[in-house]
Amino acid sequence: MVEGRKQIAILGSTGSIGTQALEVIETNSHLFEVQVLTAQNNVDLLIEQALKFKPKAVVIGKESAFNEVKEALSNQKIEVLAGAKALEEVVQYPEIDIVLTALVGYAGLLPTVKAIEAGKDIALANKETLVVAGALIMPLAEKHQVKILPVDSEHSAIFQCLVGESYEEIEKIILTASGGPFRGYTLDQLQKVTKAQALKHPNWSMGAKITIDSASLMNKGLEVIEAKWLFGLEADQVEVIVHPQSIVHSLVQFRDGSMKAQMGLPDMKLPIQYALAYPNRIDSDFPRFTFVNYPNLTFEQADANTFRNLGLAYEALKKGGNMACMLNAANEMAVDAFLKEKISFLQIAEINEFCMQHGTFIENPSLEEYVESDREVREKICKL
Ligand code: NAD
Ligand code: MG
Repeated sequence: MVEGRKQIAILGSTGSIGTQALEVIETNSHLFEVQVLTAQNNVDLLIEQALKFKPKAVVIGKESAFNEVKEALSNQKIEVLAGAKALEEVVQYPEIDIVLTALVGYAGLLPTVKAIEAGKDIALANKETLVVAGALIMPLAEKHQVKILPVDSEHSAIFQCLVGESYEEIEKIILTASGGPFRGYTLDQLQKVTKAQALKHPNWSMGAKITIDSASLMNKGLEVIEAKWLFGLEADQVEVIVHPQSIVHSLVQFRDGSMKAQMGLPDMKLPIQYALAYPNRIDSDFPRFTFVNYPNLTFEQADANTFRNLGLAYEALKKGGNMACMLNAANEMAVDAFLKEKISFLQIAEINEFCMQHGTFIENPSLEEYVESDREVREKICKL
């Protein structure tokens, strides 16, 4: 460990965000050092990353792979742990300054809570944590004086627009959405879309779950909820506009009507590096945007009726309590079933709506109640 370098834990280092974060860290090794790497299943890549970055510890989620990882790293000074509980432990190591939550889904919640309680800043890619329990996470972060630094490109855009501004001056924010591979489709056309089509995102290369969420506009719905908590807004202060080119990453409108946008070519390394280097900006050699190459930046209304998931997210947000937690659990189950080709694309939103109607509603859930609510939907409501 070198004094003066930010010490980073990456949860989900083998994924799309995790690997891009390691590229940023490697390029800026005078600023950043890795202390923890974790993966669920990808043993080979985790071992390769560990040998290269020499962290203090690695965690493999799949417990049956523990011996394989341990053996491969046996002549290194690297601690090897396994299982979900280990994530809650490693985020608390005293060396760590910042935890990048690049793991997917509800699994991000408990490690993030532990990291905040241990006083670590959070570079938050795992939007599901705020969707499930934003009402609990944001006050917890405030109590422990830790920063929640958004990595999601839209939220990074808003966050960058708000530097030097007071959040009370926000009239509304506008999240841009690419519209995904099925932009403009009718319900009839959506009946027949396949997994392969849904996995082809026009502008971003991402993990499977978020790619399906982008195709169903669930991702934008989750981002509306994420934005509410990050920036302290009401549901009607968060708008969505479809912008197929993904150049304007999002906008803020202030009380005087002035608008600020953050723009650039779509590249997740930029918001990742902004979050890690915050409050500084650092150099990058990422390709630059030029206006003449994009003479037509276009904008259109998002269709929350056809893409029912977007409408469901607003309903969950307005209802409050554990409604978004139930929506998230249902959606994780449904997307998994869609990826296994057990259900059709449109059934994802049907299942989500069913679970929101049939789960037990709780007005002001505790952490334990969020955990229980997630379990209830997965085990009792969402019969897949
Ligand atoms: P991914 O599927 O590519 O990678 C997920 C990572 O998490 C992997 O390292 C995997 O091993 C690990 N993981 C998976 N399930 C786990 C579990 N149950 N417990 C512990 N670890 C687990 O996903 P991604 O696209 O990198 O997305 C990660 C998060 O970042 C998601 O919450 C996503 O919504 C968010 N995000 C991603 C992008 C993007 O461009 N990929 C953009 C914005 C936000
Ligand atoms: Mg996003």
